[in-house]
Amino acid sequence: MIKKYSYKKLSLLAFSAALTFTSCSTNKYAATNKIYKEQAKEFGETLATVPPPKQMIDSMPVNEQTFIGSVNFGIRKPNFVILHHTAQDSTAQTIKTFLIKKTETSAHYIVGRDGKVVQMVNDYLRANHAGAAKWGNDTDLNSSSLGIELDNNGNEPYSDVQISSLITLLSTLKTKYNIPSANFIGHSDIAPKRKQDPNNFPWKKLAEQGYGLWYDAVLQIPPPEFSPAVALRVIGYDVSNLNAAIIAFKRHFIQTNINPALSASEMMILFNLYKKY
Ligand SMILES: [Zn+2]
Repeated sequence: MIKKYSYKKLSLLAFSAALTFTSCSTNKYAATNKIYKEQAKEFGETLATVPPPKQMIDSMPVNEQTFIGSVNFGIRKPNFVILHHTAQDSTAQTIKTFLIKKTETSAHYIVGRDGKVVQMVNDYLRANHAGAAKWGNDTDLNSSSLGIELDNNGNEPYSDVQISSLITLLSTLKTKYNIPSANFIGHSDIAPKRKQDPNNFPWKKLAEQGYGLWYDAVLQIPPPEFSPAVALRVIGYDVSNLNAAIIAFKRHFIQTNINPALSASEMMILFNLYKKY
């Protein structure tokens, strides 16, 4: 879900952005693509500098530290995929938001209602989509994940063509970066106190294809000592606010009666999932 900005503020910003665009007649995104390229180039230069800038150990004298470049290394890869709904009315609107500096928000991909995919940040770069979030002990999900925005206002069904496109995209990403099935999760899972997206999302359908986990058809009654808080924590939820964690769990896996109470059958689902993580 994309943070809301006042319409007045956004239109002002969009107006100034539009002024920049008009100076480039052929591609209306030429100006922002130029900014993207310059920023990416700066990161490239930082990576190529020897010794790496700003990586000295502060508390140690300079003559006691050396940098010698190894010949064996690679580039870090994303290990999670975080799904969002845009809470906006069109892909164009979301693109506009992601091109305005002031919003400080972005995602790697937007999947439109029509199934068309727009990539806005290189997979190897960090997009600003997760915000303050936690999953397991990972507190910097922006650094470890790819963010995918589904063009959806949050109160409407996702079209078949949109989900089918999403699955094609996920298949590519899963293979390319070797992302575990369990690591395809939603924004509400990693930020239960703040976020509700993606809402009414077909998680079961995705899990059947290997993107996210789902519970079995046959369930067992958990033992008396079973603790929902421990189970939610093992799955990955931030349980510092247990009610918020239960609500996020139910939004993902139950999708009805989204409240902080767990019925006997919901406890069975939680117990089943806890054993899978
Ligand atoms: Zn979101």
